[in-house]
Amino acid sequence: MAETKRDYYEVLGVSKTATDAELKKAYRQLAKKYHPDINPGDKDAEAKFKEASEAYAILSDPEKRRQYDQFGHAAFEQGGGGAGGFGGFGGFDFSGDMGDIFGDIFGDLFGGGRSRKSYNGPMQGANVKINMRVSFMEAVFGVDKRIEINLKDECPHCHGSGAKPGTQPETCPKCGGKGQVVYTQQSLFGAVRNVQTCPDCHGTGKIVKEKCTDCGGTGYVKNKKTIEIPIPAGIDSGQSVRIRGKGEPGSNGGPRGDLLVGINVDRHPIFQRQDFDIYSTVPISFVDAALGGDIKIQTVDGEITQNIRPGTQTDTRIRLKGKGVPTIRNKNVRGDHYVTLVVQVPEHLNNEQKELLRQFDVSLRGENGAVTGTSTGSTAASGEPKKKKSFMDKVKEAFDD
Ligand SMILES: [Zn+2]
Ligand SMILES: [Zn+2]
Repeated sequence: MAETKRDYYEVLGVSKTATDAELKKAYRQLAKKYHPDINPGDKDAEAKFKEASEAYAILSDPEKRRQYDQFGHAAFEQGGGGAGGFGGFGGFDFSGDMGDIFGDIFGDLFGGGRSRKSYNGPMQGANVKINMRVSFMEAVFGVDKRIEINLKDECPHCHGSGAKPGTQPETCPKCGGKGQVVYTQQSLFGAVRNVQTCPDCHGTGKIVKEKCTDCGGTGYVKNKKTIEIPIPAGIDSGQSVRIRGKGEPGSNGGPRGDLLVGINVDRHPIFQRQDFDIYSTVPISFVDAALGGDIKIQTVDGEITQNIRPGTQTDTRIRLKGKGVPTIRNKNVRGDHYVTLVVQVPEHLNNEQKELLRQFDVSLRGENGAVTGTSTGSTAASGEPKKKKSFMDKVKEAFDD
C-alpha cells in the first residue's frame, strides 16, 4: 500500500521548497473543501481529508519533514527506522501531536482561539470560598480570626498522583494527555470546532489504573487546619479577604489556590454605616436643646462630650470629623460620624412640671408681645426679662433627673 501513496507535497499541491506559511495555507484550503463535517457520508472526501491531514502533519514538523525528504514514505512505515506509526484518525479522536496541529489549523479555520495551554503543565489549585460573620466593631477596627477548616493536601502516600505506589498514572488514551478533546459539529454557519474536557480523564490527561489506597485515587487527603484570618480595619459586607496559598493544592507542581473569606458584617444597635461614614441618632431633651450645653454621644471610640449651642433644633446634624470607619488602605484615615439630634418632647408630666411649662408659655408670649387670651388660667406674674434665666433654670431642674 505504501507504494501507492501519493507524494505529500503533491497532495498539498506545493513545491518541495514550500514555506510553513504556504503549507498551512494549502492545507487549510483542502481541509475546508474535504472536511468530513462539510461532506457527511462522502468517503472520497474523507479519504482526501485524511491524506491532506497526514501530509500536513508530516511536512509541518521540521524533523519529520527532514526525514520524509530523505527517506520518503518509508520513514514513517511501521517497523521502519523512522518516527513510528501514524494513526489516530478513527472517529476523529485527535491525539498526540495531531491535537496541536488541529488546534492550530481549526482554531484559525473556524474562528476559535489558539489551542489552550497544556494541561500537563503546572496548574494552580482551585480557590476555596467560605463566609464569615464579624461584628460591627470588629469590622471597624479589624480583628484577627482563627478558623478550623478541612483543607485538601497532597496525599503523602502517592504524592498526589492517585496511583498505587510503585505504579504510575497512564497517559489518557482518549485525549493523549491533553485533557481535552476536539469535536467538530455541523451548524447553520458551517463546521464549528468544540473543545471539551476529556470525559475519560476529566481534564487531567491521566488515567489511574491501580488506585492509591490512602486517598482512593484522588491524590488528596483532607487535613484539619487552623488558619489565621486577619480581617483589616474598615472591611464591609460583601468584601472578602484573600489568604494566599490556603486553597486546594495545585497539580503537576503548581501552586496552591487561595482561601477567599467572604465577610458579612452584623448590624449594630446604634450605629449605621455608609462606606466609611457612621450615622447615629441621639435624643436630647428639649431643655438641653433650648439652653445648649454639654451632651454625651456614643462613638465607636467610646463616649464623648459634645457641646451644643442654645436653640438647637430637632434633626440638627453634627459632624464628628474622623470618628468614622478607618479606610482599608490606611487605618489612620477615617470617615466621619454624623449624629442627628432629635429633640424629645416630654411625656407624662407631673403637676409641677405642667405648671412651669404654662408659666413658660405665658412668659414666651409676653416676651413676644403676643399675649392674646391665654387659656392656661395662670395668674402668675411673668414677662419680666430679668427673671427669665432663673425661670428657665427652674424648668431645667424640673426636667433633669
Ligand atoms: Zn494517595
Ligand atoms: Zn483524557
